[in-house]
Amino acid sequence: MAKNTTNIDDLLKANTRRTPGSTCTIGVALAAMDPATRAKIEVAIDDRARFANTGLAAVLRELGHDVGTSSMERHRAKGCKCRT
Ligand SMILES: [Zn+2]
Repeated sequence: MAKNTTNIDDLLKANTRRTPGSTCTIGVALAAMDPATRAKIEVAIDDRARFANTGLAAVLRELGHDVGTSSMERHRAKGCKCRT
């Protein structure tokens, strides 16, 4: 049997349907970061002049978080529950 270290419960939990107004993939990614990294990313998210959605999504993917550009835009526009 092939080695599989993926926890099926974690995998399912990570892929449940996200209802509008709930914590988005960006919020999930932020919650998984160490505080120092998270602080820097949050500053960048608020800095629309310096960072485009595509660039920030690329940064998060580089850090290992599966996020999309549209999720970044929704998060910045506060279309999710992470930023109240
Ligand atoms: Zn969000």
